[in-house]
Amino acid sequence: MRWTQIKWPKTVTEIHVHVGGSVPLYRLWEIAIERGIRGLGGGYEEFIDLVKIDSSKVKDLDSYLKIYDRIELIQSGPSAIRESIIIAIHRAYRTGGMVSIGPGGEGGSPSSLFSIGRLELRLNPMKRTGAVFLKGEHAGLYDVDRVIKASCGAVEEVELAFKNKIQSGLIFMFGRDMTFEANMILAKKIQIWREKTDKIIGLDLAGPESINPLSDPRRLREMKEVFDEAGGGVGRTVHVGETPHVDLKTFLATVEALDPSRVAHPIVAFRAYWNKKDDRGLKLLKERDIVCELCVKSNLLTRAVADLAEYGRIINTLDEFGIKYTFSTDAPSLQGTSLAEELILLLDNHAATEEQVLRALKTADECSFLPRSGW
Ligand SMILES: [Zn+2]
Repeated sequence: MRWTQIKWPKTVTEIHVHVGGSVPLYRLWEIAIERGIRGLGGGYEEFIDLVKIDSSKVKDLDSYLKIYDRIELIQSGPSAIRESIIIAIHRAYRTGGMVSIGPGGEGGSPSSLFSIGRLELRLNPMKRTGAVFLKGEHAGLYDVDRVIKASCGAVEEVELAFKNKIQSGLIFMFGRDMTFEANMILAKKIQIWREKTDKIIGLDLAGPESINPLSDPRRLREMKEVFDEAGGGVGRTVHVGETPHVDLKTFLATVEALDPSRVAHPIVAFRAYWNKKDDRGLKLLKERDIVCELCVKSNLLTRAVADLAEYGRIINTLDEFGIKYTFSTDAPSLQGTSLAEELILLLDNHAATEEQVLRALKTADECSFLPRSGW
């Protein structure tokens, strides 16, 4: 069936989008100029070349994440993160349902299949302080409290301006590439700020699995401590098992220790089942009723998934085990894509059926960390 004939919901929920990946590139360029950021290449075209994620540049998760480092610096400080979040939510509402996206990450088609009416945005506030974490530093130029306050304030402002036509909230991410001490500082800040605002809706873990796969039980215990320090009462999701650096044993231990209700890209669980008939990962997801956050184009770009045929196999395997899943864009502006475009990609290539896509959209509505009240 052609996607134009599908009865799409008027508004949908998108639950896996990074602030670093959802500011259109031309807007990032403008922010960088305004803030006097160095290292932007030799002009606009070169800048676009530097930050646009495409298959010629990205070969795995590590090279995908490298592009984020530069963007996180551009988005550092209270005023840049505030502006970035306002742009990111507005972008989702305006272009999330568009069937194609133009160069620079802006809307490329006037026809929309739906609007994104509820949006979960994720970011690591410590990485917006201007600190360079890989060098062991965790004190940047900017104050993390001011970054958090500006982020939450930006969400409130957009919701007010949109007269509640869009609802949004922030998932704060801990970093695999940050020291225990830096993650702990963030956890303590989250605990304090959750008392002051309802815009922090969840916790996440992200960053290169190659640097810290959490296979060392001590590192995993530390990460659990960090999550527990941030406190309960908010949603939990974890990026885990996207690369071969995380084996099935580590995947199982991570899910058990960090106790998420959703996981992002748990590719290792499929591989273990397909290649070794080891279904422990999938069974654990089913037992705990954990929802899988799938991001089609991102998984193809990082080569976590080989092609759309393999994507179809993932979706069918999830259905075979009765595990819930959702589709999101991860980094729509960097990938030059929209949620609608990615769903069409699945449908056109017979990687998912209309029923599977519509069910995934409903699951995103239901498993969202956003409060139902006021919506
Ligand atoms: Zn992600």
